[in-house]
Formats: sequence, structure tokens, C-alpha cells
Amino acid sequence: MKKFNIAIDGPAGAGKSTIARLVADNLGFIYVDTGAMYRAVTWKIIQSGIRLDDEQEMIELAKQSEIRLLPGEQGQLVFIDGKDVTSDIRSAEVTGNVSQVAQVAGIRKVLVAKQKEMAASKGVVMDGRDIGSTVLPDAEVKVFLTASVSIRAERRFKELKDAGRTGISLEQLERDIAARDKMDQERETSPLVRAEGAVLLDTTEMTIPEVVESILSLCREHAGGGK
Ligand code: C5P
Repeated sequence: MKKFNIAIDGPAGAGKSTIARLVADNLGFIYVDTGAMYRAVTWKIIQSGIRLDDEQEMIELAKQSEIRLLPGEQGQLVFIDGKDVTSDIRSAEVTGNVSQVAQVAGIRKVLVAKQKEMAASKGVVMDGRDIGSTVLPDAEVKVFLTASVSIRAERRFKELKDAGRTGISLEQLERDIAARDKMDQERETSPLVRAEGAVLLDTTEMTIPEVVESILSLCREHAGGGK
């Protein structure tokens, strides 16, 4: 299949990264997790002791950061300035602050430019909040993945439990996800929206293989092979 780009957007916990990775593996494309980039910058801001209301300092830090996403055996590895932060960026502290950092237009400008560069040679499956609308408006396949808040919280809860992280209740997770959705949908710069031309997939009652197959079918349609 000739290379093209796939944009997958949606709210927190909709399963974007799992699905995007499987679709990329299936097509031999590169998976780019843009949430991990916002998380890496947030991690570095926290480490540097910069205040989250000091926009100029935060933007400067983002400009001076080298972020790399590399394939690993158990998913994508995330490096910032050569340091492996793959697990650090999933901490509760980073998760709790990332949407505030992602509201800063100057930070988005820096990361969106990097993301466009990553997709320039095509063959990329990119997931995030603004991929179909802002980063890759010309992506050949666009998907908006969603599910009810309660099922998204349940899935995250299971994921954390399986990883041995049991410090947070299901109710708290549901509240956190709803708060993050609200911030992502209401921010001024490139809020979370269903992009023009994006196919809506509500995964509340779908299994992972079903969602992957739906997206692969859209890819086949794009490639002209029919269903
Ligand atoms: O995808 P993930 O949940 O790891 O993303 C973390 C946060 O990064 C999101 O809640 C959102 O605030 C921000 N983000 C964004 N734009 C993207 C990807 C993530 O604003 N393209």
C-alpha cells in the first residue's frame, strides 16, 4: 500500500494509543504519540521548577528541548534531551498538569512544528487532540475515537491495576478524565474537536480488534481496494 498519513483524535482514555499502535504495526507505518510529547515537556517543566503560570519560561524550555520517540519492545519510548522518560511521563503529577501546559499557544506552536516534520515523509499514524484539525489537516484518513466517560475511566483503571498502580479509585479517575476533557475542549488554541472529514468511531461497545479493523477498512477504502 502506498504511504499516507492517518490522524486519530479523541478524548482521554478513548484507546487512541493502543489502537494507533496496532494500526501502525499492521500497515508497517510509524506511530507518533503526540500526548507523550506534551507530557515530556510537562515533566521537564516540573523538574526545572518553572512555575506553570510562567508562559515565557515554559515556551523557552519547549523550544530548547529535544524530544525523540523511538520504537521499543513494549511500545514507544520517549526521550527528552537524551533522557528516557517513558514511565516518568505517566506519573499522576504529569497527568494532573499536562492539560494546563498544553493550553499555552507558544508551546503548541513548537510541538506542532515538530509533529508536522515527523509526518512529512508520510506513513505515519499520529494520535492526539488536534491532529486532524491542525497538525495534519490533509491526512488521508481521519478518525475521531470516543467512548462514554465511564467506560474510559474503567479501561484506564484496569490498565493502571494491571501495571500495579492501585493508588487511585475509579470514581477519582472518572472525575480526572472529565476535567481533562473539559480543559482540552474549552481551550482557545486548537481545542479537541472532531475535524472536518473525520470518521466518528464510538468504541463504548466495540472490542479493540473491531476498532482496528474499522480503521484498516477506511485505509483500504482510501487506497482504492474497497472493503
Ligand atoms: O494522549 P494523552 O492523554 O497522553 O495526552 C495528554 C494531554 O496532552 C491531553 O490531555 C491534552 O491536554 C494534551 N494533548 C494535546 N494535544 C495533543 C495531544 C495531547 O493538547 N495533540
